[in-house]
Amino acid sequence: MLVQKFGGTSVGSVENMNHVKEIITDGSRKVVVLSAMSGTTNALVEISDAICSQESSTALELIETLNKKYVHTISELLNENFLIAEAQEYISKVFDSLREITILDYTTFSYNKIVAQGELLSTYLFSSLLRQEGINAMLLPALDFMRIDNNNEPDAFYIKQNLQRILSKNEHIDIFITQGFICLDVQGQISNLQRGGSDYTASIIGAAIEAQEVQIWTDIDGFHNNDPRFVENTTAISQISFDEAAELAYFGAKILHPQTVMPVRDLNIPVRLKNTMLPAAHGTLITHHVTGEGIKAIAAKDGIYAIKIKSARMLQAHGFLKRVFEVFEKYETPIDMVTTSEIAVSLTIDNASHINAIVQELEKIASVEVDDSMSIVCLVGNNIIYHQDTPHLFQILQDVSVRMISYGGSNNNISLLINTTDKKETLNNLQRYVFESHEELLEI
Ligand code: ADP
Ligand code: ASP
Ligand code: MG
Repeated sequence: MLVQKFGGTSVGSVENMNHVKEIITDGSRKVVVLSAMSGTTNALVEISDAICSQESSTALELIETLNKKYVHTISELLNENFLIAEAQEYISKVFDSLREITILDYTTFSYNKIVAQGELLSTYLFSSLLRQEGINAMLLPALDFMRIDNNNEPDAFYIKQNLQRILSKNEHIDIFITQGFICLDVQGQISNLQRGGSDYTASIIGAAIEAQEVQIWTDIDGFHNNDPRFVENTTAISQISFDEAAELAYFGAKILHPQTVMPVRDLNIPVRLKNTMLPAAHGTLITHHVTGEGIKAIAAKDGIYAIKIKSARMLQAHGFLKRVFEVFEKYETPIDMVTTSEIAVSLTIDNASHINAIVQELEKIASVEVDDSMSIVCLVGNNIIYHQDTPHLFQILQDVSVRMISYGGSNNNISLLINTTDKKETLNNLQRYVFESHEELLEI
């Protein structure tokens, strides 16, 4: 079986939903994972924020605007009267329940319930379209099988058991339509796999059903060698390894949720990235196969804090780093980059929830400085630290101030820490230094 996931833009208009319908009706049996229509989850987050800050009239206005969008979508998407009536009833219920939440006490549960509506709406409407066209498909509620455990990790055993049971009970069905992103938590309450999580849903399902391939259909023709939101002339990469893709996704390549490759990597299930609007384009194939030498792609991750821990006690002493790391361990805060000198260590974190407590503890053993609004720029490729073209990247030191460099941690990754305000310039200059002609640069 195949798993095909379609993102927000891919289901963001009636025209695109019809493209999706063409793509999925190729005759192979599959699970189709849908995101919310583009803009919907952001709108739901805004609604939730307004409710949380007790601005109920703002919340109600936002709900009204979104409601209208769906009324309009139904009128364009469906022409069978009974399907139109059913869909209208469904969306009335959804929007009435949102209006109700505005007068109830706001909790985390409310947030999770509100943001879940996007995927529930898109899958409902898309299934109605397939019914209208007489396609042999079934709506498979994600909350019937998708569950996370106490550590917010997918409960692989539960998911596999439930999915396999449902699929084998419905052997006559060709296409199962399910929601990305949403799941249940251990208490059985509605939860989610974090923003962008529909990609992760697809790979979790891929692993559970041992799919032959997981396809992520989006609005671009595959994994590009740099972030197309900030750099022009980026190009699609035809093949990339699981490790390279995981690293780039972790360090900010928005095309993939950071966890996407984890469930399928060990099972060696390929992940293919494709463009819904341009299905003939090759896209990107992610497997264990490592191709090429040198820098393959660049990504950047924002929201980074740099912490400098300085102490004369570090000089020729042992055990200092252990004490530093223990503080981060205690607050379950992962560290991304580390550089050391004889009397100081600098490191980065992206989760600042315990930063005050961490700094207080570190100040017992050293002086501490924290810089926020930093970005990690990550360069990934096979054996890049030995490649002849790699030195060109260090031209960047002439353009922006680089706070930290991590080189040699692995052969396949180099990371730079910069101010977020320098990100665009950094990505653009690296694009030239790394991927474009080197001759003119050698003359500098
Ligand atoms: P979807 O809604 O289909 O999940 P996303 O917006 O989450 O789509 O991801 C696709 C977007 O990711 C692209 O439109 C592009 O702007 C952005 N992006 C960031 N980095 C990359 C990259 N390295 N390669 C391709 N796209 C990238
Ligand atoms: N709709 C969710 C979001 O916008 C999940 C996804 O699109 O992957 O984050
Ligand atoms: Mg996405």
